[in-house]
Amino acid sequence: MFSVRFHGRGGQGAKTASRILGTAAFLSGYLAQDSPIYGAERRGAPVAAFTRFGREPIRERGAIAHPDVVVVADASLLSDPTAHVSEGVAAQTPVFVNSSLTAEQLRAQASLSGRIMTLDVTEIALQQLGQREAISALLGAVAARLSGLEREPVRFAIERELNDLGLARPVIERNQAVALHCYDTVRVMTIDAGLGRARAVTSLHTPRYEAPTRGTARISAAGNSVLRETGGWRTFRPVLRADKCNGCWLCFAYCPEGVITMNRDDKPVVDYAHCKGCQICVHECPTQALTAEREEKGGVAWTAR
Ligand code: SF4
Ligand code: SF4
Repeated sequence: MFSVRFHGRGGQGAKTASRILGTAAFLSGYLAQDSPIYGAERRGAPVAAFTRFGREPIRERGAIAHPDVVVVADASLLSDPTAHVSEGVAAQTPVFVNSSLTAEQLRAQASLSGRIMTLDVTEIALQQLGQREAISALLGAVAARLSGLEREPVRFAIERELNDLGLARPVIERNQAVALHCYDTVRVMTIDAGLGRARAVTSLHTPRYEAPTRGTARISAAGNSVLRETGGWRTFRPVLRADKCNGCWLCFAYCPEGVITMNRDDKPVVDYAHCKGCQICVHECPTQALTAEREEKGGVAWTAR
């Protein structure tokens, strides 16, 4: 069995990428399984998706603890302790990171396991597709290449999955072309499938029953959401061009996080420590005074500047 774990942020398409990989594997004659996990989270929050495929029936379920390949859709996840990107990653596990930085530059910024490789998929999507969020097909193709799947099943899988999402034919064809360009660009590595699982110590764990008062998540302190700095979720930041702003307050009204305040001149001020980068304010601004600028060019660091 071969297993791939995807890490992304809500809205980046990690789930669709895992489906594309699963479908490509299925079309290649394998049995395949894919599933995402994102809980009750919001756009920009860390999410994961899992794809397994093999010649034998796959009885394993749930999260992939020891992946053969890891695909990271957003470099900022590398320094996010809630994303658990390095969990179960052995020194020889290929880890693909969507970043403009090199593997060495990433290693200098965060402690990373595995054999790191990078490609700036977001920049490719911006240049070729004109959309920064449209990276699911590209990531699926990269994962398929690293998993040893052929090109044609990947092309068909992208068509099938994006068609299911209701995308128009020309959009699907552009995604196929750009995704296959990424497929051809990424470096192939030799992989010992199942090595991590074989080394892992397996034991049966019987969870202890805990009454709802103990086992249910609770918020026991008031006014604590400000402590959760969701600014680290952001891939693109909203930036104001004050000369274009007419002071209409629409961005203030639409921001779902309540992180925009208006100053005395009726200009918005963004709290970047908590702005999660959903870009709703950018879309709603009637004068294009707010624009989306890429965060820290593929790096893992972010600042609340
Ligand atoms: S300031 Fe804009 S990008 Fe940030 S959370 Fe609010 S609406 Fe989203
Ligand atoms: S929506 Fe645009 S024009 Fe209106 S206050 Fe916000 S930035 Fe200014």
